[in-house]
Amino acid sequence: MDNMLMDRIKGGMYGVAVGDALGGTTEFMTEREIKEKYGYLTEIIGGGVWNLEPGEVTDDTMMTLGAADGILENAEEPVEAIGHFFMEWYRTRPKDIGNIIRHVFGKYEGDWFETAFVAHMDLGQSAGNGSLMRCLPVALAYKELADLDRVTIMQSRMTHYDPRCAEVCVMYNRIAHRLLQGEDLGTSIKAEVKGSEYEEHLEALPDCPPSGFIVHTFRWVLYILLHTANFEEVVQKAANLGGDSDTIGAIAGGLAGIYYSYEGIPARYANAILIKERLDHTISQLYEMRTSC
Ligand SMILES: [Mg+2]
Repeated sequence: MDNMLMDRIKGGMYGVAVGDALGGTTEFMTEREIKEKYGYLTEIIGGGVWNLEPGEVTDDTMMTLGAADGILENAEEPVEAIGHFFMEWYRTRPKDIGNIIRHVFGKYEGDWFETAFVAHMDLGQSAGNGSLMRCLPVALAYKELADLDRVTIMQSRMTHYDPRCAEVCVMYNRIAHRLLQGEDLGTSIKAEVKGSEYEEHLEALPDCPPSGFIVHTFRWVLYILLHTANFEEVVQKAANLGGDSDTIGAIAGGLAGIYYSYEGIPARYANAILIKERLDHTISQLYEMRTSC
């Protein structure tokens, strides 16, 4: 077994779950409210608007697992399989589910891309961060860049018609692809956002709220990743922003988890995750897929 690769894949999946579970406590709060209530939140304590159990994850992690399971079921054409796992999860009546995705699931009648367009028209926009928060398994499972790009775009378009979503998902997964090969975090980010609207926003503190709008989310994710020195700092920074903190934490945590690897995730964080067993099972299958053939 390639232990370093396994550690990075495991770090990526746990990074999403930990960022989600920690940030779930502060979702929709303002920075000031968080400061008043928690000082600076550093522990996975649950609660928050969803009244979470400590270590309970939300839609970010559950849909990441759905995307992973769909890919593992049909690596060639995973859209239907991913959709099947999404709907299976949707039928469990999850408490946290984004507006765009809820709308798509409610309207779905057999054609994902068509439904995503209908939702985009109904809602007047579809530039949410919901396809970004779940796309990491594509980069973990496929080692060829052509497959990575193709599946990353498809999984995004299943629910998010706005082209900015697929565009950011591709940048994100290409960064993950570099990190899996041991490249430096800062170098990988700069290489992949080059020429995009994100390039000029890497240094200064974002002047946008930490919202679920894909452009805002990605600006915060990149800023956090470039201005922290270890995994803990990444997910804590996201959690203490408030707003869409669980999703920003999950997205930033996924890349940080690959880069700093599973070994870099504090054990108290990884051990707190309630669905550890399911996560571990999917992680070993992702590793097998990437390293077979
Ligand atoms: Mg969530």
